[in-house]
Amino acid sequence: MTLITKEYCQELDNNDVIAHTQQEFTLPKDTIYMCGNSLGPMPKNAMAKAQEVVEQEWGKSLITSWNVHGWFNLCQSLGDRLAPTIGADAGEVVVTDATGLNVTKVVAAGLRLNPTRKKVVMEGSNFPTDNYVVQGLLELMNDDYELVFAEEDELYDVIDESVAVVCLTQVHYKSGRLLDMKAITERTHAVGAISIWDLCHSGGALPVDLNGCNVDLAIGCTYKYYNGGPGSPAFVFMAKRHQGKVQQPLTGWWGHAAPFAFERDYRPSENIDQMLTGTQGIISLAVTGVGIDITASTDMNEIRKKSQAMGDLFIQLVDQECSEFGFEVISPRDAARRGSQVALTHFEGYAIMQAMIAHGVMGDFRAPDTLRFGLTPLFLTYLDVWNAVAQLKDIMVKQTYKEAEYNKKHAVT
Ligand SMILES: *Cc1c(COP(=O)(O)O)cnc(C)c1O
Repeated sequence: MTLITKEYCQELDNNDVIAHTQQEFTLPKDTIYMCGNSLGPMPKNAMAKAQEVVEQEWGKSLITSWNVHGWFNLCQSLGDRLAPTIGADAGEVVVTDATGLNVTKVVAAGLRLNPTRKKVVMEGSNFPTDNYVVQGLLELMNDDYELVFAEEDELYDVIDESVAVVCLTQVHYKSGRLLDMKAITERTHAVGAISIWDLCHSGGALPVDLNGCNVDLAIGCTYKYYNGGPGSPAFVFMAKRHQGKVQQPLTGWWGHAAPFAFERDYRPSENIDQMLTGTQGIISLAVTGVGIDITASTDMNEIRKKSQAMGDLFIQLVDQECSEFGFEVISPRDAARRGSQVALTHFEGYAIMQAMIAHGVMGDFRAPDTLRFGLTPLFLTYLDVWNAVAQLKDIMVKQTYKEAEYNKKHAVT
C-alpha cells in the first residue's frame, strides 16, 4: 500500500466539491472539531437569526409574531425544509420536542397501528434514552406489552409474526455501524409489523430514503448533523398513509384539530400536526432552521461521498501512523456499512481523549474505552483528518496522556 502523505490530503481538499460549506461555520482557531456527531458547531448565521428573533420579533412584534413571523407554523415549515434530506415529502415531518418525547409518540402510535400484537423489538446496545422511554411507556400501558432487545445479528430471528413494532437506530451511536434500512423494513413489513427508525446519527449525515424504504414512522435530532444548536428540537416523521388513523398519547393542544377553538375534549388533527404537543421554544426552533438550511441546500450524495472518504482516510492513517499503540477500530472498515464517525477503543481511552482535546482535537469518549471521532463533511477538511491523527500519534509517542490532568473525570464526556 502506498503511504498517505500530508500533500495527498491537501490534494483531496483541492478537489472537494462541497468545500464552500466550510464558510458557513464559525469554529475557534486551532480547533479540529470532531464532535459534530454529538453537538454540531455554530453556523455563522445563527447569531444573526437569534438576534432577529429576540430583538425584532419577540422584542418588537411581541405576541403578533405567532402570525406575522410564522411562529405558529414553524414546526411544520422547518419539517418541510428538512424532509428532502430524509426522503420524506412535505407534510410528513415536524420539528418539535426532544427525541425521547418523540420516541414515546411514535412507538405508541405504532402499537395502535398494530393493535392485536404486544411486542416491541429494539436494540439493547442502542443509545439508552430510546430504550428507557419505551420501557416507561410500556409500564404506563400496564398491560402484557413486552420489550424484546436484540442485537444486529439477532434481528432477523426476533422479527417474526408476534412483533407489533420494530424500532431501530440506523447508525449506532458508539460504533457508527449502519443498518440496512430497506432490508430490515421489508422484513418488518413481511411479518406484519410497523417499522420505526431513529435517525439521530443518520439524518443530515447520509441520504436517508424513508419513503423509498416504505418506513412508517421515524424520529431524529437536529443538534448533531443538522447543527441546530445545543438542545435544539428533534423531528418526527409520520408517513401520509398513517396520518389521522391513530392518535399519539401526548395529546396537547397543538396537536388538536382546532387548537384555537378551545374545545373541551381532545380531537386529533388528521395531518402531521397530530404529532405536536404544545408551545415550543421558538428561539431555539428558529435558530435550528439555519443549520437545517445548510444541509438541505447541499447535495446529500456529496456529503455522503466526502464522509465516507474522510472515514476511510482516518482509518488508513490510524493504521499507518498509530499501529503500535494498541488502538482497535471498532467501526466497520467498509464505508458502505458505516455512518459518519469512526470509533477506536483503547484501555487508556479517557485520558487519551482528554489530552487530544487539550491539544485542539475535539472528539469524545464513551465508557468504558471508546474514542469517537465525528467526520462531518460540512466543516472538516481532509487536512484536518491528517492533523488529528498526527496529534494522536504525538500524544501516544510522548505518552502525554499519562499526565495527571488528563486523568481527572468530568461529568460530561
Ligand atoms: C442523540 C440521541 C438521542 C438524544 O435524545 P434526547 O432526547 O435529545 O436527549 C436519542 N437517541 C439516539 C439514538 C441518539 O443518538
